[in-house]
Amino acid sequence: MKKHDLIILGAGLSGLSTAMHHKGDYLILEKDERPGGLTRTEDIEGFLFNHTGHWLHLRDPRVTKLVNDLLPGQMVTVERKAAVYSNGVFTLYPFQANLYGLPKEVLRECLQGAVSAAIKRASGDYDQPANFLEYAKLHFGEGIARHFIVPYNTKLWGVSPAEVTAEWTQRFVPIPDIGQIVDGALGMSKEAMGYNASFLYPAEGGIETLAKAMFDRLDQDKARMNSAPESLSVNGGFITLNGQKLSFDKLVSSLALPDLVNLTVDAPDRIRKASALLRCSPLRYVNVALDVPTPLHGNHWIYLPESKYPFYRVGSASNAVPALAPPGKSSLYVELANDSIASKDDIISSLTEFLIETGSIQSAKQVLFTAFREHPWGYVIFDDNCANARQEIIDFYADKGVLSIGRYGGWTYNSMEDAIIDGINAASRI
Ligand SMILES: Cc1cc2nc3c(=O)[nH]c(=O)nc-3n(C[C@H](O)[C@H](O)[C@H](O)COP(=O)(O)OP(=O)(O)OC[C@H]3O[C@@H](n4cnc5c(N)ncnc54)[C@H](O)[C@@H]3O)c2cc1C
Repeated sequence: MKKHDLIILGAGLSGLSTAMHHKGDYLILEKDERPGGLTRTEDIEGFLFNHTGHWLHLRDPRVTKLVNDLLPGQMVTVERKAAVYSNGVFTLYPFQANLYGLPKEVLRECLQGAVSAAIKRASGDYDQPANFLEYAKLHFGEGIARHFIVPYNTKLWGVSPAEVTAEWTQRFVPIPDIGQIVDGALGMSKEAMGYNASFLYPAEGGIETLAKAMFDRLDQDKARMNSAPESLSVNGGFITLNGQKLSFDKLVSSLALPDLVNLTVDAPDRIRKASALLRCSPLRYVNVALDVPTPLHGNHWIYLPESKYPFYRVGSASNAVPALAPPGKSSLYVELANDSIASKDDIISSLTEFLIETGSIQSAKQVLFTAFREHPWGYVIFDDNCANARQEIIDFYADKGVLSIGRYGGWTYNSMEDAIIDGINAASRI
């Protein structure tokens, strides 16, 4: 049996970062033909598409330094341009801080709700929110919850926010105070809110440029593509690959937790039961090429909370970085609602209608091609079972020398930066 100090499963950002930061022998195995995971970029007829967004937001100086070292002078900084389309009008993102422009009756409902919620919070006379729906009502009020937070998030996950805990919201959902909500309703917002007010992006090659640069730093003899193990024995400390046993001292896995459990031949029943409780919505989106240079009024992405659209967000990577599309043309990514039952034809005609109605294109002929994509893992559903089940599984593996990391290995909602930090932390724990 061949022995390795460390085997890393998955060459997405978390696996690549583990390998880069590990000071010793390792073998990294990736089931696809090239590294990058969710950050791979697809080239269709000169249009470069990511798995939807993939804008780099950096907060940790270690990751900033890493990116600067890997891609010196090759990143551009982009100031976010994002909007919401509802009730037939565009408003600025985030909805809750930019109500200006909404029809008067909607604006009144949102403002009255926000004021009532602020009074309630100030009184201290309320129960802690038991789920994301209650959290949204408490922090934004009934109107904002009804017109944006609830319908948008229901489309994203395919389940009601009442089924989701408020666990992930602190970082990703900006909370304006009542003064900011009033300013936003009057069109007087002073600052862009939220974690993604500006972002970095490679000037050339799409976001995969980052994963490629990380991979190039690795010892290529220690990496195998098209390599997914058939099984894992945590008690035996080995995996099987092409029928051969490879043993390890430590294993770092960035596989989705349920996939890791399925791979494990000696996982106990309690771990299989915990795994069965984990829920995640799949990722479904459409890559679209347009024969116009700057759709969506130049916005990088638009949120669409209303159920009449089978998609919840439409973005244009080439609006942010024009090199992602051929000259004079542009690209869109259209993120499909997880509760949508619309057929592909219906989705495309609804999209075309939306683009014509809002002035992005004049006719359906300007849609050059569309390509539907699916990925089994999209957004972890943080329901009541999630935290305990996830912890039980992760602790079980950690006891056996197996660290489960990354977006789906850690079973979380995270960013590319977090995935890189997961790798740094895993290497340091080893
Ligand atoms: C729709 C969407 C949009 C996003 N947008 C942004 C954004 O704008 N900004 C941002 O910072 N982050 C964004 N993210 C988050 C970002 O993509 C992730 O945090 C990061 O890419 C996760 O990296 P990872 O290594 O944890 O996982 P992954 O990229 O999923 O890597 C796991 C790897 O394991 C491989 N693998 C799977 N099974 C096996 C097996 N059995 N054997 C071997 N290998 C296997 C996979 O092929 C893959 O390469 C977005 C995520 C999604 C879903």
